[in-house]
Amino acid sequence: MSTPAAIFITLATFAFMEFWAWFMHKFVQHGPLWVLHRSHHIRPSPRPFERNDWFFAIYGAISALLFVTGGNRQHWWFWVGVGIAAYGTVYFFVHDGLIHGRLPFWKKTDNVYLRALNMAHKMHHKTQGRDHSQEFGLLWVSPKYLRLARQQAAKSKK
Ligand SMILES: [Zn+2]
Ligand SMILES: [Zn+2]
Repeated sequence: MSTPAAIFITLATFAFMEFWAWFMHKFVQHGPLWVLHRSHHIRPSPRPFERNDWFFAIYGAISALLFVTGGNRQHWWFWVGVGIAAYGTVYFFVHDGLIHGRLPFWKKTDNVYLRALNMAHKMHHKTQGRDHSQEFGLLWVSPKYLRLARQQAAKSKK
């Protein structure tokens, strides 16, 4: 597999995973699999592990399978595995680490984009029930929150 093709497949998978995560979150995790996701909406949360963490194990297993069967980088699906693993890693650091404070070394940021993500996701957690929640995506944030984050940043500089 050529390098540009490998990079393209990895990035396309990463982008698709944001859509996929949004779709799953909205229609499956807040639907038939609420039984797993519910643990993530209860406050205070049942940490250190939530039932919701199974989703990391599921996606981890899928990308591991793609790595193992990917013929040592020869097959296109090896790079799909890389894209899924990369998305999962970013998701974990941003969502679990930064937003939910599960990583002791990363609790605050001045970055406008990350602040906007944080605000949008806190909106998602406004409700503890399965229904009537909003903002199911993570990295794709609506301009409304970017605007709010920019205003906040300007205020804190004064
Ligand atoms: Zn949710
Ligand atoms: Zn969350």
